[in-house]
Amino acid sequence: MNLPDIRVGNGYDVHRLVEGRKLILGGVDVPHSMGLDGHSDADVLVHALCDALLGAVGAGDIGKHFPDTDPKWKGISSLHLLKEVMRMCKGFKLANADSVIVAQKPKLAPYIPEMKKNIAAILDVEADQINIKATTTERLGFAGREEGISAYAVALLVKNDRP
Ligand code: MG
Repeated sequence: MNLPDIRVGNGYDVHRLVEGRKLILGGVDVPHSMGLDGHSDADVLVHALCDALLGAVGAGDIGKHFPDTDPKWKGISSLHLLKEVMRMCKGFKLANADSVIVAQKPKLAPYIPEMKKNIAAILDVEADQINIKATTTERLGFAGREEGISAYAVALLVKNDRP
């Protein structure tokens, strides 16, 4: 049987919540009293998605390509990193990506459509190919104590028919 060349990858990331930083999720500046700490804009959702894409093509992880010791990536929008990652997936197109943001606060539902739009535009797909879910942990663990936010993502890539 001739199976299509499809690849799956998964990604996971965590960033610490601190005062005096913006909360950027899926490229959206979400109003909140705290933000995520990190070398880039610390967009935990986009980082998990980058790792899912890199995983699918067997290209390692985000830390390998964009080390936090490199001043080049300081304060950079993670959507820019996502664009670089999609270039590394040359020869493949995204079938779909699914993700979960794990955060006790704030309520993220109102911002999800814009996150999907931002990510779909970078990956050159329709917004309905990107799914973003949000959950709390019922106040359990580091997310529940509002010490940090984590994100999980899976991505399915299909080899381009065109050479
Ligand atoms: Mg990260």
